[in-house]
Parts: sequence; C-alpha cells; structure tokens
Amino acid sequence: MTLWICSTCAVEYPDTPQPPDVCHICADERQYVPATGQRWTTVRDLAAAGHRTHVAEVEAGLYGVTVEPEVGIGQRALLAQTPAGNLLWDPTGFLDQAAVDQIRELGGLAAIAASHPHMFGVQVEWSRAFGGVPVYVNEADKDWIGRTDEVVRFWSGTFEPLPGLTFVQAGGHFRGSAVAHWTGADDRGVILAGDTIAPVADQGWVTFMRSYPNSIPLSPAAVEQVVGRLEPYAYDRLYGNFGRVVSADAKAAVRRSADRYIGWIRGDFDADT
Ligand SMILES: [Zn+2]
Ligand SMILES: [Zn+2]
Repeated sequence: MTLWICSTCAVEYPDTPQPPDVCHICADERQYVPATGQRWTTVRDLAAAGHRTHVAEVEAGLYGVTVEPEVGIGQRALLAQTPAGNLLWDPTGFLDQAAVDQIRELGGLAAIAASHPHMFGVQVEWSRAFGGVPVYVNEADKDWIGRTDEVVRFWSGTFEPLPGLTFVQAGGHFRGSAVAHWTGADDRGVILAGDTIAPVADQGWVTFMRSYPNSIPLSPAAVEQVVGRLEPYAYDRLYGNFGRVVSADAKAAVRRSADRYIGWIRGDFDADT
C-alpha cells in the first residue's frame, strides 16, 4: 500500500500504483508547484529520511505537535484537551509511533480537523492510528480532499465536535476556512486560527490573506466577514499554525489589525506611499 504525500504541502493522496501528475492543492494559485517540479513521498520514506514527531505543551491543556525536520508546509498541529476527549487541529503530514504513544498518554484523540485544505496533512492516517476517529472537513472545501475515506464527515456554518470546542466557518483564505474556538483551561477563550487569521512578527497583530506564499490579499468585505463571524465568541489568545501566537487580548488585536489592513487596501494611507 502506497499512500502518496505531496512533498510541498504534505497532504495525503490515495493508494494508487503511481502518484497523481500534480497535487491539486499545490497547483492552485494560493500554493505553488516548485520550479523543480512536483515531487511525492510516503510516510515510510519520511521516516527513513529521519523525520520525527515532537509533542510539547503550549499552555495548560494545549499541546503542539511538530515534525523535525519539517515536512511540507511545516505546520505545528495543536492538540486541545477537553473532558470529553481531545481535538487534533491542522494535523501534520507525518506521524510516527512516538507521537501516537505520547498522544495516548494525553488521552488520545476524539476528533481531527484542519482549518483548511493546506493543513489536511495525513489526516486519515492520523484517524486510523486512533481507531478511526472522525475527520471533520468543511463542506465548502470537500472538492480539495485528495484521500477520501469513511472517517471524513462534513460540517458547515458552526459545529461543536466536542463540548467546549466550536468550529466556526469564517471563510476568507478558503470558502471553508475555519477556526476552532476552545474554552481553554482558564475559560477565557482560545482561537486556533490556522491560516484564517495569522499572527505576524509584531506581537499583538495579525493578518488575513488569500495566499501567504504568493502574497494575495483579501478584500475589505472578506476581512470584515472573517472578523464578524468570530464576533459572538470571547477569546484571549490566538494561535496561528507556525508557532506564532497573540498571547493576550487577542480579540482586540484582531479588530485593530483588521482596521489597519482595510485602511491600507482602501487607500486611506496612500499619502505615505
Ligand atoms: Zn501539494
Ligand atoms: Zn493556507
């Protein structure tokens, strides 16, 4: 059995004798096929090349899962604990027995979901390692799935996979782009933002993009849509998927950043250009 993994985005594809000609996620304008051409790998090849998973606490009840050296886009997956079971968010494109063992010690997994197709990783493989737990995919992004499977379940709008966790379809980056709102161990609220809202280098600020690698912006209306769909929720911290975090008062940071972004797109600050 050869489950193909795109080397550029680390999203899994089905068991076929030959891999697809091209990864449809990378061929899209939001991603890229490297100038050297499409390449494919497998979990076994990645393990043989020395890739290993690492699980580390990020804050109380929240853990980061990384692969070193990085694979694909290189996201840090997040594991959020709830009394009813754990969510794995933005699953990595590689897993090994060490990760499975460590996550079992943290209570295993009850749900798996990606914020959007760039972060599908080897989501079905992760599910298989934990007894076939559901993999939730937003209905609007179903055509981006490379490896279909009976564990995949669709949702749209808002959805509560576990008590204390709510998926919110905010759109923007993809039509089905989602965030996960988690109550957090301190009940102050945490947003797992994926690429829907991205913390930037300057602490206390975020951005919103159609494409990060190709720097394609979103319109003012699309940014207002993303912010508006999070408006009903209280949150203090916001995690992107590359280790960046807004570590306090994140809801105000999102509003402030949206205002600045929209001001620039609209031309409010053109005197400074
Ligand atoms: Zn790809
Ligand atoms: Zn993305």
